[in-house]
Amino acid sequence: MSLFEVRHQPRAHRLVQRAMEGRRFPHAYLFAGPEGVGRELFAQRLARLLLCDEPASRESVETEGLADWSGAVADACGKCQSCRLCMSGSHPDLHVISRDLIKQHPDPTVRGRMGLDLSIDVIRTFVIDEVGHKPVMGRAKFFIVREADLMSRSAQNALLKTLEEPPATTFLILITRSVDTLLPTTRSRCQVVPFGMLPTAFVADEIVRRLPEMSGEAAEWYAEIADGSLGTALHLIEFDLQSHRDGVSGLLSGLTRTAPTALAKKLIDTAKKIGEEFRKRDKDLSDTEAQRRGLRLMFVLLASLFRGALRKATESGGRFEAVTGAIAAVRTAESQLKLNTNVTLTVESLLIQLGRLARR
Ligand SMILES: [Zn+2]
Repeated sequence: MSLFEVRHQPRAHRLVQRAMEGRRFPHAYLFAGPEGVGRELFAQRLARLLLCDEPASRESVETEGLADWSGAVADACGKCQSCRLCMSGSHPDLHVISRDLIKQHPDPTVRGRMGLDLSIDVIRTFVIDEVGHKPVMGRAKFFIVREADLMSRSAQNALLKTLEEPPATTFLILITRSVDTLLPTTRSRCQVVPFGMLPTAFVADEIVRRLPEMSGEAAEWYAEIADGSLGTALHLIEFDLQSHRDGVSGLLSGLTRTAPTALAKKLIDTAKKIGEEFRKRDKDLSDTEAQRRGLRLMFVLLASLFRGALRKATESGGRFEAVTGAIAAVRTAESQLKLNTNVTLTVESLLIQLGRLARR
């Protein structure tokens, strides 16, 4: 349960240890980086360290970025009451803020809303009002804001004063994919901590460590397509993406012979099946959104198949222009999906394009 379980994030570790050494902690952090690389885990462990009654000091630690660290390193003790409460997820001074808190809002009209963004109602009630109260256990109050990039403009503006002059005992960590998605005024009031992609080999090892029944080959496949994100890899495993690999690959081999509309239908049918799995986990999901999520996974699969083809073409001196064209086409279709365009049309036009490239 150590801070150092978060691996391959050297900059985050150095910044925190430097702050511990100087006993000067910024009150607002912005953890910026891709999903599934340890941002939230690091935030949780950092909160535990700052809330711990007796932080432990270790001579050295084997982790990236601290190999040449000369002083002692700090970590939570893991034994005090505060640490135990953090571990059980019930520390009264550790607040995890996410957009679905809207369903717990005291106002029934607000509760009825969808919560697609991180609204001002959630920020006001669960952060700003909370900041005004003293810590329950005396030491500090900690707020971890998930998906901070989804904070509406008004939510960010409402939060400014808290970010600017937080009470001495209040700490905030905003978790975001990229710093650019936040207003400059929000950004400038936080210390930015960049998080990077994880090495593929590490992701594969982690998968096997967590899921010992999985074969090394499958773990490597997932690590490869997850592109340096352990979270993404585990997500794809949950939806058993590999089981669709051969089907989709077979579909692509029919590109020159079969009508694109027929292929599109097959692809959408598979996406629907995966979409049903999404629905089992989130009953509030609409049909369209479930299908969209399924399709997003199909695109991940397509992109990975084309990347594999690109590798082969480059090695054998084959026609890699067609393959790079295909990768670009998948990327375009992916971004169209985000723009709420008609799903069937998007997939059909993708397959028409892929068919043309295959015939070249
Ligand atoms: Zn402790």
